[in-house]
Amino acid sequence: MSPATTRAAVLREYGRPLVLEELPLPAEPEPGAAVVRIDRTTLCGTDAHLWQGGMPGVELPIVLGHEMVGTVVALGEGADRDARGRPVGIGTRLVWSESTCGHCHGCTVLREPVLCADRGYGFRQRADRPPYVTGGLAEYCYLPPGAARLVVPEDMPHDWAAAAGCAVKTALRAVRRAGGVRHGETVVVQGSGPLGLFGTALARAGGAGLVVTVGAPADRLAIARAWGADEVVSVRELTEPESRVARVAELTGPRGADLVLDFAGGPTANHEGVLMCGQRGRHVVVGLAGPDARAVPLDVVMSREIQVLGSLNGDVSDLDGALRFLESFRDRFDFSAAFGAPAGLAESTTALAAMASMTTTKAVISPHLDLKEPA
Ligand SMILES: [Zn+2]
Ligand SMILES: [Zn+2]
Repeated sequence: MSPATTRAAVLREYGRPLVLEELPLPAEPEPGAAVVRIDRTTLCGTDAHLWQGGMPGVELPIVLGHEMVGTVVALGEGADRDARGRPVGIGTRLVWSESTCGHCHGCTVLREPVLCADRGYGFRQRADRPPYVTGGLAEYCYLPPGAARLVVPEDMPHDWAAAAGCAVKTALRAVRRAGGVRHGETVVVQGSGPLGLFGTALARAGGAGLVVTVGAPADRLAIARAWGADEVVSVRELTEPESRVARVAELTGPRGADLVLDFAGGPTANHEGVLMCGQRGRHVVVGLAGPDARAVPLDVVMSREIQVLGSLNGDVSDLDGALRFLESFRDRFDFSAAFGAPAGLAESTTALAAMASMTTTKAVISPHLDLKEPA
């Protein structure tokens, strides 16, 4: 039974506590759409970033959360199959990708959903206009028609499935953009947040010879080790870009890295990443360097014949790959190590603050957990 309204944690003012409100849900999902009861939402660094200060093109109020898994409670006409053609009905557990417009250059000429000019990220949906709630910090949410769905394997933990929706698919796409990991390659992973950790596991699982993960704090680097890093470099111990590049050079030897996955962001990360590449290295940029970015040394790009590749989030193909990766390597990597204990919807602000301060690797919200508590 689809409810008429849903409790949601609404961002009304940047940096301020989210406000628990009752928002409307469409009475009848339009053709191709669905309404899901959210089983779990995992928070991403982007949610914390948005909460702290916004992003161009985002207007308040919004419902944050773009990594979630949910169970169908209402289906629009023609929404009875997932992207792989498997049946979807009331009670099916799903993950889904951002909707696309279907008629822009990115959609129709390039056929790259991530390059859609009007991609339906949940945080672009204003919470005071229909369909109100497409974000994950709510009990129920609306899946717009253009959002491709995938049925979640029955025994997959909620947290893992939710994280596939951004962190895992984004890391996986970055590896794919580089043409995959070749056997025995030296891979450097910049960043030890969720992207860097999943990138570390992907590099190891993909057949890397040596994996070096660069990041902080120590507990995240410990997970990186458990997920396949042979060596870790702490950016809290080596605070200067030059010292990090030198340390990585020691570890990789004169050949340098064959593949650098740049998930770190920050003003010097791109610069460092290129310098960590050896001859014919591939450098995949995912992290945002921001307005104060240190220039990338293009003379080094030229003289070593380095390929620098951008990688933006992920599409339904990457999402499918993410689910399959998590399922296939569940016995090899303790993926649960990255997730915090689930908190209720009323704890959303605390969870965002924990993400912002990096005291938790992946904060987890179970929106129905605190249902009986006063809002
Ligand atoms: Zn994200
Ligand atoms: Zn489009």
